[in-house]
Amino acid sequence: MSATPAPLCPGRFVVLSSPSGGGKNTVIQRLLAKYPHFAYSVSATTRPPRPGEEDGKPYWFISREEFLRRLEAGDLLEWEEVYGDLYGTPRGPAEAAIAEGRCVLFDLDVKGALRVKQVRPDSILIFLEPPSLAVLEDRLRRRGTDSEERICKRLAQAQWECNQASRFDYRVVNDRLEETIQAVERIIEDYLKEDKHS
Ligand code: ADP
Ligand code: 5GP
Repeated sequence: MSATPAPLCPGRFVVLSSPSGGGKNTVIQRLLAKYPHFAYSVSATTRPPRPGEEDGKPYWFISREEFLRRLEAGDLLEWEEVYGDLYGTPRGPAEAAIAEGRCVLFDLDVKGALRVKQVRPDSILIFLEPPSLAVLEDRLRRRGTDSEERICKRLAQAQWECNQASRFDYRVVNDRLEETIQAVERIIEDYLKEDKHS
């Protein structure tokens, strides 16, 4: 019988949250490129795919009925209704990655992030703050992925979401992208080095 390989590091959930357009996806892509042993938690959603999106990238796109079936079966680690659609974290892949000693990156709304902390108190919650609501609006529009109606729904929540930033372990203002990425990398590396919460 072969021995189980030693884990790379104590597995941790690393949750990035922000208002929509705050930069979560951009930062997560850079983290995944730098740390190949990190895993990304692909959520399930009832939101229709945007142009260029497909099943598994960046979500599992499922019907409301299927979402509710998975919820009922206990397959979701957490879930929320966000901007009128359902989003949830599949439990199995995240727990399997942690068992292998991998860090798992999550892109979650504020309530989902706080829920993950309840379920796993050793999770790291990072809030990306936009420099201002005007900059956030400009980035959402420039991204060009959402209809006017969807942009308005997202902006309507943004102030409330920013008001929750103090509930997170760390806050990073996403002004200059390279500085933001360095700050997030430092947070994660310091946390894993010190293994503060083990
Ligand atoms: P989220 O995943 O939080 O919704 P995105 O990562 O999609 O946000 O970022 C929203 C838009 O803002 C994207 O077009 C992205 O390229 C841009 N963006 C993100 N961070 C910065 C930054 N620091 N400076 C300028 N543009 C940014
Ligand atoms: P978008 O539709 O713009 O990709 O995402 C909308 C919001 O849903 C974002 O704030 C994102 O962080 C959040 N989100 C994505 N997946 C999940 C999930 O599994 N759970 C929760 N709670 N929020 C999620």
